[in-house]
Amino acid sequence: MSFSRPIHFVYFDLDDTLLDHTHAEKAALQAMHASTDQPFGEHSFDTVHDAYRAINPGVWQKYAAGDYTKREAKVGRFSQLLERLDLATDTDEVLANRYLETYAHYWQPISGAFDAFKAIADHVPVGILTNGFVEVQQAKLRQFPWLSSASKAVVISEEVGVLKPDPRLFAEAAKRAGMQPAHILYVGDSLTSDVHGGVGAGWQVAWYGGRYFDHPDVLSFSSWANLTDLILTGS
Ligand SMILES: [Mg+2]
Repeated sequence: MSFSRPIHFVYFDLDDTLLDHTHAEKAALQAMHASTDQPFGEHSFDTVHDAYRAINPGVWQKYAAGDYTKREAKVGRFSQLLERLDLATDTDEVLANRYLETYAHYWQPISGAFDAFKAIADHVPVGILTNGFVEVQQAKLRQFPWLSSASKAVVISEEVGVLKPDPRLFAEAAKRAGMQPAHILYVGDSLTSDVHGGVGAGWQVAWYGGRYFDHPDVLSFSSWANLTDLILTGS
């Protein structure tokens, strides 16, 4: 296994690549579900969690496509959740804000990812390229400040105005890195945002937790130590 071209810059995705977003999302919903004011009525946690997980990706797709405003994405996912649970939707904005506050208490690294990031950053220039609401992503970066300080470029989609997989976001990131697309590696977990986005931009891609993907510029990996070896030694 090796990359098809030399790697001169490595961009990392944040959510579910370096940081365990899935854990924080679940923990936040769990904490809200368990609170005494019962924001989700009598529904079980699994019902609430499953409904949220079913709604949220579609909301992000519409936000990425420009069909939803930021507010429609941020608050709308809770309007849709309450609707799906047959509850009144007038608390949607309160819950949306409460979710983001609670979510922030549960950010933690993906096991092995921070060590890999540090080891790679010692040898190759690195950056962060992330979708997500700018104030939320900036708060994550403040919580783990060395991620930004080790990075030559930090690109948050909302600041650029388009979301992954839009090629304009990758082009802007390449420009900020001062690199040709062909020599940038993108490390991310999402098939649509990261793999399709990266390949579409002419980057190489390391798909974290991914399955076999039939493209010469895409490698899948599940071990951060393996990825580090691959980048640093080429094998
Ligand atoms: Mg991700």
